[in-house]
Amino acid sequence: MNDRIHNFNAGPAALPLPVLEEIKDSFLNYKKSGMSITEVSHRSKWFDDVINDAVERTQRLLKLGPDYKVLFLQGGASMQFCMIPLNFLSANSSADYINTGTWSTKAIAEAKIQNKPIQIVASSEDKNFCYIPKDISFNKDAAFVHLTSNNTIKGTQFETLPDTNGVPMIIDMSSDIMSRPLDMENIGMIYAGAQKNIGPSGVCMVIVQQNLLDRIPDNIPTMLSYNTFADKNSMYNTPPCFGIYTIELVLKWVEETIGGLEKMGALNQEKGKLLYNFMDDSGFYRATTDIGSRSLMNVTFRLPDENLEAQFISDAIRSGFGGLKGHRSVGGCRASIYNATGMDAVTDLISFMKDFEKKNG
Ligand SMILES: *Cc1c(COP(=O)(O)O)cnc(C)c1O
Repeated sequence: MNDRIHNFNAGPAALPLPVLEEIKDSFLNYKKSGMSITEVSHRSKWFDDVINDAVERTQRLLKLGPDYKVLFLQGGASMQFCMIPLNFLSANSSADYINTGTWSTKAIAEAKIQNKPIQIVASSEDKNFCYIPKDISFNKDAAFVHLTSNNTIKGTQFETLPDTNGVPMIIDMSSDIMSRPLDMENIGMIYAGAQKNIGPSGVCMVIVQQNLLDRIPDNIPTMLSYNTFADKNSMYNTPPCFGIYTIELVLKWVEETIGGLEKMGALNQEKGKLLYNFMDDSGFYRATTDIGSRSLMNVTFRLPDENLEAQFISDAIRSGFGGLKGHRSVGGCRASIYNATGMDAVTDLISFMKDFEKKNG
C-alpha cells in the first residue's frame, strides 16, 4: 500500500500493518459471528476469548508469574497517576518518586493533590531532563518506588532499572512496554497507555502483583480501585473492547511474527543505534539527550536553528515522513520509532535527512 506514510507519531502511533489488515478483513463479520468485534457483547464467548488471549500473550511475553494480574482499564495512563497513590498509599506510608520528565512530574503532582506522603529521591530537572539519574538511594521502608521507564517527550530511557533493594517498583511503561525483555524481579506494577506501543488509545494495560492488590483499602470509589477490575477479569463494567482486541492482535504479532521480546529488543536496538550514530556523526543534527540515557523509542533532536527545523518538518511531510515535530512543550524534532516502525522507515528517514542536510546545511 504505497499511500501509507512512514509514521513517526509519538501517540497514537503506528500499528503493525498486518494487524490493521487483519482488523479490516474481519471487521464486518468477526469469526462468523455475523457481527463486528465492536458489536458483540463483552459477555460473549467471542470477547471472552479475545480478552483471555490478550492476557495469556502478555503473561507469556513478559514471563509473568501467577501472582500478577493483567488488567485493561480506561482513563489512560494519566488516570493511573491518581489511582496509584489512592490505592497504595495510606497516611502512614510514604513512596519514593523519580522525576525524569513531564509524565513523572504529572504523576508526582497527583500524589501531592491527595496529600499523600511522597519523597522525590532523584530528578534530572537540573538539566532539563536530558539524562537518567544514576546511583539513587531509596528509602527502605517506602511503600513503592515510582518511575517512568521511557520519557516520551524528553527522549530518555532507563537502560536498566534501578536496584531498589526489594522495594516494589511501579513503572509507567506507556512508551516502551513490550519493546524489550523485562526482568520482573522487584516490579510490583507496570502500566501503559496502549496508544504508544501496543494498541489504540482508550485503554491502559496494568500488570499488578497480588501483594499490592492485598493492600488496597475498601473505602475508595469502586471505579478507582484496582480490585474492582482484578476481581472481574477487567469486566466489572463494559471494558474498552475494541482496544483490547487490537492489543490482542499486536501481541500476537510480537509473539508470532517478530518472535518474542528478545527479537523485538534486538530490532529496536538496531534501529536506535543507526539513527543515533548517524546524528552523532553529522554536524547538522544533534541528539538532545546524554549518551547512556537515550531512548530507543523516542529519538529527540535539534537542527542548527528553528527555521530549519520548521522547514525540515514540512519537507518531511511532503516526502512521506509524518510525526517528526517535537512535543509542543520542548520544540525541536522527534522520531518515535516504536515496535511497529520498521527498519525500512528508519533507513529511509536517514536518507531523507542526509538529503535535507545536503540541500540546506
Ligand atoms: C502518553 C504518556 C502518558 C499519558 O497517557 P494517556 O493515556 O494520554 O493518559 C503517560 N506516561 C507516558 C510515559 C506517556 O508516554
